Amino acid sequence: MTAIAGRIRVAGIEVSPDHFIGGERVASDRRFEDISPITGEVIAEVSRAGEAEVDAAVRAARDAFPAWADLGPAGRAPYLHRLAGLIDANVERLAAVECMDMAMLLRSLRARVISRGARNYRSYADLATAYEERDWRSQGTWNRVQRMPAGSAAVITPWNAPFMLSTWKTAPALAAGCTVVLKPAEWSPLSCSLLADLVAGAGFPPGVFNVVQGVGEEAGAALVAHPLLRRVSFTGSPETGRRIGVSAAKNLVPFTAELGGKGPLIVFEDADLDAAARKAAGQYDDAGQVCLAGTRLLVQESVADDFLERFHRFADEHVPGDPREDSTTLSPLIHPDHLERVEGFVERARAEGHRIVRGGRCSPVGSLFYEPTLIKPNSNDAEIVQKEVFGPVLTFQTFAGEDEAVALANSTEYGLSGIVYTGSLGRADRVGRRVRAGVVWVNTFLVRDLTAPFGGTGISGIGREGGDYALDFYSDLKALQILEGSTG
Ligand code: NAD
Repeated sequence: MTAIAGRIRVAGIEVSPDHFIGGERVASDRRFEDISPITGEVIAEVSRAGEAEVDAAVRAARDAFPAWADLGPAGRAPYLHRLAGLIDANVERLAAVECMDMAMLLRSLRARVISRGARNYRSYADLATAYEERDWRSQGTWNRVQRMPAGSAAVITPWNAPFMLSTWKTAPALAAGCTVVLKPAEWSPLSCSLLADLVAGAGFPPGVFNVVQGVGEEAGAALVAHPLLRRVSFTGSPETGRRIGVSAAKNLVPFTAELGGKGPLIVFEDADLDAAARKAAGQYDDAGQVCLAGTRLLVQESVADDFLERFHRFADEHVPGDPREDSTTLSPLIHPDHLERVEGFVERARAEGHRIVRGGRCSPVGSLFYEPTLIKPNSNDAEIVQKEVFGPVLTFQTFAGEDEAVALANSTEYGLSGIVYTGSLGRADRVGRRVRAGVVWVNTFLVRDLTAPFGGTGISGIGREGGDYALDFYSDLKALQILEGSTG
């Protein structure tokens, strides 16, 4: 921890490649390389935390906790509102850096993804302030349910949509009165460093919000095992979630996990087929690196050919290219290791005899591009149907009626999301209820009310984020009972 903290330029924007601990920039001697998926070049040598930096960040968060908790929701809200305002004022800078770092389309980042961060802080500031403690009388006592801020929280986020997901997790933590140590993913660490600058600009007391940069197995593992933390909140893969859950359990620390998905996109014969096919082709957006994506297309037999014809037409409209260009709709994958993983899934599917009806190879457009791929599996047990690829790879299966559609939809270990296309309200209700997932959208996708619960069933997650669910997670609920008539 002796190196001198400095600033670098990424996409013309000044950004710190160092940690943010106790309100100050702290550098490590050890570094890791951050490579842009757009250029393939190293854009930052980022400070690589070990146990010492993690310990310093957790202690800073622990020390800042009592005063932050004592402010109460109304006292904390102005900080969150100021931070939201700064995010709105810096959308261009945040979008430019995140685009360079993880290659999400610049226009999506500008139009909705970054500003969702501001929405997250604003809505949690308001929701925490609006909380009404439940009061009632029973058995001769006055009862009251109180939220006590839980303590310091570890927040670990994945490389896709790193800014949005980090704000989504830290907003309820801060609003509930917890202090935070955030560790972003090592493949896209820079927009969270800009977030730390904005936290400083919003005047948060030192130590309330800390960022440690580093590699999962080192910094991440040290963070979630730290005995001074009182909450662990994780978004990432089920494999890592299992490991982190074990660490949290050893310290008896409550843990939430938002994990991978393998969502069904179910199309019934009474659906608007054009809308359904367009949305299905839209599952290739962000190169399929979306946990909520409907990657298993399940289409009623009677309209399967018609649907497929429309699907190919919409999929043909995709334009792979530089995500900074307005005309581009398909970005490169995040990293060569991830491309290899995606290729591995498709090659194994090919070797097992499943029919590749679209794509199925690296795209000639550039080194990290993979062609939008559609596979007709010859068995529902196939790995390509059962495991999350997290790339532009969809499967296509047909069903005869509702029961079979639901059975197929619920046939994986995951349960994060589902999408249903139907023209019948009765069917929307019946199928919507029977699909096992944390969220089911009917005739739409990705519309989010931030007060609704968000999370997964099965191996897609433990616990719920969103609304009061997240505020409860970052609080210890207390029942206060006072004997009636015993006080003046
Ligand atoms: P990952 O599990 O490899 O890494 C996620 C984070 O965990 C990173 O910050 C990483 O550094 C850290 N980490 C890795 N090993 C660790 C350890 N032993 N201890 C502590 N931290 C550790 O996931 P990823 O590849 O970054 O992200 C892709 C996955 O995330 C996909 O499965 C995707 O579906 C999922 N995801 C889920 C949601 C959701 O809301 N459910 C949202 C986005 C992504």
